[in-house]
Amino acid sequence: MYGRKEVPVSGFASCSHICQPVPGFRSKRSSPRTRAAQQVTSATATIDKPQTAAAPAASLDWSQLAQQMDSQSPLQIIDHALATFGDEVAIAFSGAEDVAVIEYAHLTGRPFRVFSLDTGRLDKETYELFDRVERHYNIRIEYTFPDAQETMDLVRAKGMFSFYQDGHQECCRVRKVRPLRRQLKTLKAWITGQRRDQSPGTRAAVSVVQVDPAFEGTSGGPGSLVKYNPLAGMTGKETWNFLRVMDVPVNELHSKGYVSIGCQPCTRPVLPNQHEREGRWWWEDAAGKECGLHSGNVSVGSAEQGSKAEAQRDLWPEGKVQALSQEELSSLACSESREQDTLVALYAPWCQYSQAMEGSYSELAEQYAARGSHVRIAKFQADTDREFSQQTFGLQTFPTIVMLPKSRKQYIRYPSERRDVETLDLWIKSVVGQ
Ligand code: SF4
Repeated sequence: MYGRKEVPVSGFASCSHICQPVPGFRSKRSSPRTRAAQQVTSATATIDKPQTAAAPAASLDWSQLAQQMDSQSPLQIIDHALATFGDEVAIAFSGAEDVAVIEYAHLTGRPFRVFSLDTGRLDKETYELFDRVERHYNIRIEYTFPDAQETMDLVRAKGMFSFYQDGHQECCRVRKVRPLRRQLKTLKAWITGQRRDQSPGTRAAVSVVQVDPAFEGTSGGPGSLVKYNPLAGMTGKETWNFLRVMDVPVNELHSKGYVSIGCQPCTRPVLPNQHEREGRWWWEDAAGKECGLHSGNVSVGSAEQGSKAEAQRDLWPEGKVQALSQEELSSLACSESREQDTLVALYAPWCQYSQAMEGSYSELAEQYAARGSHVRIAKFQADTDREFSQQTFGLQTFPTIVMLPKSRKQYIRYPSERRDVETLDLWIKSVVGQ
């Protein structure tokens, strides 16, 4: 049975927070802007509360509950988590805009716990945000650290930046996943700031509440941990509107172009219109958009499996893309004075990323031919003589695109993974003119 209760939206006097006020710290929640924000949100802070504060998790149908709660506000979802699990649920705080979850928890008026993983590789601005959040809410964040021995073993064996060569999984396993696993083993539920719009590839189906498919809780075994994602249905824009209205502390890195924030070596700012996930582990994403030079004839990897049938046929067998022989390309590469500007795609027919640019490159060639451009659009099947392509053009991955300008001996490498007509056309104009 549920009853209605007014929930205080400021101060801690009327509730017994697990996150106890820190002696000597003064809450900032009396600023004029904050008071305005409280007036804006006071209505939403009146929520239904279960009278029983610890309904057993096993007795609930979580998938059905997820459907019911999908249209509820983050405030209602977090209130459900806190009311159901009490001090056995905690908020995972990464030091980015997921501070919104803490604000919502605060608005419920209930006690709440916050934990954070200090990987040892965070930015100064993130540590400063942790400190400001503790002061703002009069709480202590429960920090969790990587195992010292595991971290030493990794760094002594592979150095401080092994993730740039080996990929981030190993380092993340030591510094993030295992500490998180240990922390979650002390809980029955946790609350994250995951949103569906953060990564269309991997988070598009994030549910507002679910039995955690990956981690275990205190009782151990599959199904022993519940995961709440109260921001799942919010967009990044809505989250930021909320943070601004509530006058919540935010990471200073956001004002420097960072959107998604993780460890310092693995996070970078993004440009306008770039997706926020492009600021994380970008070197791996780039590699994932090309085929390695040594793939194809040595072993057929997963990216190439689907392309194998396609590999039987050549790319651009007809049309306006001009095929160059090795002799022709070699002569062009060494020439002091070329007759015209030539754009060359060094490709492998079996490479799915070469296949993926077939349509746009073909269209580019059609357009240039139709307008009588001085730029020749050409191709060279580079997997037939990799050594030549590697030595002459520094080929590392397929496809690689190079411009051989009429006016200079050196070639210019196309630097982007975007291979649509507009981007290629823009780049060509920028290096050899109209
Ligand atoms: Fe290591 Fe980077 Fe993962 Fe941080 S994000 S744990 S530095 S690989």
